[in-house]
Amino acid sequence: MFFRLLLPFLFLGLSIASSSAVCLTLSKLLPGQVSFPNSTIYDNAVASYFFVQERLTPNCMVRPDSARDVAVVIKQVETTDGAILSVRGGGHSANVGFANSNTGITLDLRSLNHISVNGEGNVTSVGGGALWSEVYEYLDERGLAVLGGRVGTVGVGGLLTGGGLSVFSPRLGFASNNVANMEVVLASGDIVNANATSNADLFAALKAGQNNLGVVTRFDLLSFKQGLYWGGGIVYAESAVSAQLAAFAEFKTPANFDPDAEIEQSFLYYKAKELRISSNNMFYSKPIVNVSSLRRFAQIQPQISNTMRISNSSDFSKEMSEAQPANLLGVWATTTFKSSLAGLQDVYRLWNSSVTELSSVDGLVSSLTFQAVPPVTGEDGSVDTFGLAPGTHPEKDLVICLIANWWSDTTDSARMLNGTKEFIAAVEKNTEAKGAKVPFTYLNYAASWQDPIQSIGEEQVKFVKKVAAKYDPNGVFQTKVPGGFKITRVSS
Ligand SMILES: Cc1cc2nc3c(=O)[nH]c(=O)nc-3n(C[C@H](O)[C@H](O)[C@H](O)COP(=O)(O)OP(=O)(O)OC[C@H]3O[C@@H](n4cnc5c(N)ncnc54)[C@H](O)[C@@H]3O)c2cc1C
Repeated sequence: MFFRLLLPFLFLGLSIASSSAVCLTLSKLLPGQVSFPNSTIYDNAVASYFFVQERLTPNCMVRPDSARDVAVVIKQVETTDGAILSVRGGGHSANVGFANSNTGITLDLRSLNHISVNGEGNVTSVGGGALWSEVYEYLDERGLAVLGGRVGTVGVGGLLTGGGLSVFSPRLGFASNNVANMEVVLASGDIVNANATSNADLFAALKAGQNNLGVVTRFDLLSFKQGLYWGGGIVYAESAVSAQLAAFAEFKTPANFDPDAEIEQSFLYYKAKELRISSNNMFYSKPIVNVSSLRRFAQIQPQISNTMRISNSSDFSKEMSEAQPANLLGVWATTTFKSSLAGLQDVYRLWNSSVTELSSVDGLVSSLTFQAVPPVTGEDGSVDTFGLAPGTHPEKDLVICLIANWWSDTTDSARMLNGTKEFIAAVEKNTEAKGAKVPFTYLNYAASWQDPIQSIGEEQVKFVKKVAAKYDPNGVFQTKVPGGFKITRVSS
């Protein structure tokens, strides 16, 4: 009994000692790339995580310059009993321990942010640690675009969990369906390419695989010519809520589907100002102002601010980044349902009471967001890793619901996590009762307690498990890289 109680502490001790030893070895093998606590480089790396709760303090931070350097790190971790590794891309995840830890080595991919384009302009190569803002800046200068995130401070690592709901998603699908090739460092330290013809099973599994299969050091993205387009955000006073919900329900009516129109409708509460507002971030992928599918949103009153304009992806992604609360604790969670006006009104009502219940929490900022599910493209013949069957049209009537909550004091963390969980449970109970619940949990927005990989369907889970076992037979990414949604923990 005594020994059993002691086991976790022994394991923690082993992990710290082993990880420390790996850190020392790596500092010799990769000079200048390893930083330790109490150094400026290390402190800056910790502080650069988007959410405060993810600013953990590992034994060392390693910032590789190349895929080869990543392979050196993986090889050391693989061969050292008890060593623990975290993989950090853009560092935007709110899930604690997904991209950092207090007891291990953190592989910080941020220096792998090199971007280049091929001669034809149809494939853009992006380092595995780049931010979308860096990608857009490079492409805008060349009149090109790719599918990616809207928020510029998010990393391209999200391509391994759906990849962001891009401005171009209503036409072209999830951003991860528009990847042509990935360069991957496997658990063995081997560096391979995964695409439709080479390691095709790995390629398909990676699109929902997060860090279960390897570390992606380069994404080759399908790029296309793109000029300026219409977009921006409108913020409305609280009295606009019912008009907002009605406009969104109408936008989501299948007959009104417009493949160039994209919208993110949010309802927001700011405790500091006792403010309840709503907003629409809207885009039309052409330089046409006030198109019919989005005109209704532009007409809703009363408006507090309106930044709709013709511009480019870097400008829009900067605006979206600046709107995000920073340097706070946070949690997000998601669910998906079939759209109807009554359903949207119910979800809004549930969010409103959840906010009222949590409104004594210091620094509370809460946002409820509705977005469309992109179409299932599968044009490259790849396996649909999201469990959305080919031939179906989720883009026409399904809504992804995202709740994001921010607060300032750790003493409120348990309450905030419970409140967020309860909100999602209440929404799912409601959509289930209405026959509107959809068994799809968008990985990119899933909270650590949710099971998004399970939601991609039994066959897909079996497939990803099989691929993980093939490319990582010793389960390095399952046991030594504990952060993230682990495929071996999903029942099938
Ligand atoms: C309000 C809000 C807005 C958001 N906006 C966007 C958006 O615009 N676009 C978008 O895509 N997402 C968005 N997200 C979702 C979110 O940021 C993603 O979940 C995404 O995973 C973050 O990517 P990152 O590289 O910054 O992640 P990190 O926090 O660095 O990592 C997340 C996970 O991915 C793994 N990982 C990261 N990079 C790699 C890699 N190269 N190889 C292997 N594993 C890797 C990490 O190990 C970790 O487990 C948003 C979420 C919220 C709440």
